[in-house]
Amino acid sequence: MSIDAERLRKTHEQLKADAEAGGYHLNPDAEWTLGLVEGLLTNEGRYGYPACPCRLASGKKEDDLDIICPCDYRDPDLSEWGACYCALYVSDEVLDGKRALQAVPERRPAKRERRAPEPQAAAGIRLWRCRVCGYLCAREEPPGVCPVCKAKRDRFEPFVLPPSAIPVT
Ligand code: SF4
Repeated sequence: MSIDAERLRKTHEQLKADAEAGGYHLNPDAEWTLGLVEGLLTNEGRYGYPACPCRLASGKKEDDLDIICPCDYRDPDLSEWGACYCALYVSDEVLDGKRALQAVPERRPAKRERRAPEPQAAAGIRLWRCRVCGYLCAREEPPGVCPVCKAKRDRFEPFVLPPSAIPVT
């Protein structure tokens, strides 16, 4: 299925604007990035959702949830490798030329090893608080940039919920 050039351009612009608004960056290599956006649009037409263009989707949404773009693996790959698996998203360091792009190993577990999400405590998920604006997020590591006030990662601190805020089950 070929994608209309105008639709491709608009989707790319929107994706870029959304990324920047959230403290992320698209790969500045326009040719590369447009190819990936085309893949996302193709997958959206094929499956009804924008599955990762660099992975083989099953076509069953419940089995592909973790690879709907942006996938579950983007942020840890950005932290560790400076780019997501497809290199659609890149880190500040890559964007600024302080780090070279490199191949990103597949982080997605093999199908037989994929499990239902564990409770957050067991999965090692922590709460992080932006010391500048108070934004809270629950993830393994703080984000590179606060999506609200744009403070950098080093302005985040671990946050512990007061016992009174934890529901008793
Ligand atoms: S690897 Fe990149 S392009 Fe692929 S789904 Fe994840 S964020 Fe999107």
